[in-house]
Amino acid sequence: MAFSKFLSKQVTEIKPSGIRRFFDLAAEMDDVLSLSIGEPDFPTPLPFCEAAAKACAAGDTHYSANYGMIELRQEISKYQKDLIGVEYDPKTEILVTVGGSEAVDITCRACLEPGDEFLIPEPAFVAYAPCALLQNAVPVAIPTTIEEGFKLTADKLRQYITPKTKMLLINSPCNPTGAVMDKESLEEVAKLCIEHDLLVISDEIYAELIYGTKHYSIAACPGMRERTVVISGASKAFAMTGWRLGYLAAPVELLSGIAKIHQFALMCSPTPSQHAALEAFKNGREEVDKMVHEYARRREVIVRGLREMGLEICEPQGAFYAFPSIKSTGLSDEEFCERLLQEEHVAVVPGSAFGESGRGFIRISYAASMDTIHQALEKMAHFVASLKQ
Ligand code: PMP
Repeated sequence: MAFSKFLSKQVTEIKPSGIRRFFDLAAEMDDVLSLSIGEPDFPTPLPFCEAAAKACAAGDTHYSANYGMIELRQEISKYQKDLIGVEYDPKTEILVTVGGSEAVDITCRACLEPGDEFLIPEPAFVAYAPCALLQNAVPVAIPTTIEEGFKLTADKLRQYITPKTKMLLINSPCNPTGAVMDKESLEEVAKLCIEHDLLVISDEIYAELIYGTKHYSIAACPGMRERTVVISGASKAFAMTGWRLGYLAAPVELLSGIAKIHQFALMCSPTPSQHAALEAFKNGREEVDKMVHEYARRREVIVRGLREMGLEICEPQGAFYAFPSIKSTGLSDEEFCERLLQEEHVAVVPGSAFGESGRGFIRISYAASMDTIHQALEKMAHFVASLKQ
């Protein structure tokens, strides 16, 4: 049967994630040391789990309001105010979603029309471009370089704005590079967004995981609150990826449109997860601090280890990824990753999975135990040395 006729053109044309093939390879092997994971290795802190269990035992297993439980939205609103200094009305300007992933998807669905250009600084998280393509919109990559610290500058952005540009993506701290945009750069970028009347999706899912610097949101720049959709969630900071709990914060005029899609497609985020998140946003700061402290120690070990191998690296300031160049080894990033996996049983991700400008780099996650990191670095050093001989 010709199933292809049943699938839409847009879906058929989307390529599967570049990370998939690589994970399939790793899954066939045992004894792999994995630095490829895009999620915290820590278990969800027990008090959050207990809050969910308690709510379930008390019978709160029903749908919540479409926007999410009001107590949770109130807590998120307070949390956001502390984190980025911008206030959102919990009744109308916060929407609880099924992960940050849903938040990205429904914002693209609600805002992009065929032909609209969506600017995405690259290397970038894999979901943004497909979400645009599903709307028949045009994802436009803005390449950033290691020399620029993988940060978007206003000068660079200016070169990519056309009359068709509708939306800009900002992901700071960034997956996969760990780059963090500073306040001044964000303000420069913000001025251009206002001048060209652009909407911004600011994916701040890694906002709390930051080392030696401070998180700023473009929503906090003058004149930007009304043209920014902030995306975040519990997955990364609270080690809650499997709970599927994210949120959107945006002005009521925008959020009420986006919420229509959520209402029909998702109804609400899982109620038990909302109870766990309520506890996390209310009382979880200490747990986050403990995890950030540990990520910071691992980051130092990774950066030092990669430098000792002679690999060029721009020091990551956020998230839990390092993104060194492997160009000096003479291998492509894909060859490097495949051989490292096969010869040393260490899994890292080819940079080209995150766009053309990631070619020649690899993404190393330090959401892994210190022991795994030490062993993997030793094997990687052996591999890199063997290539240079
Ligand atoms: N944004 C970025 C940059 C991410 O790395 C991820 C997950 N890897 C997400 C959004 C989505 O996370 P979740 O759906 O678990 O909230």
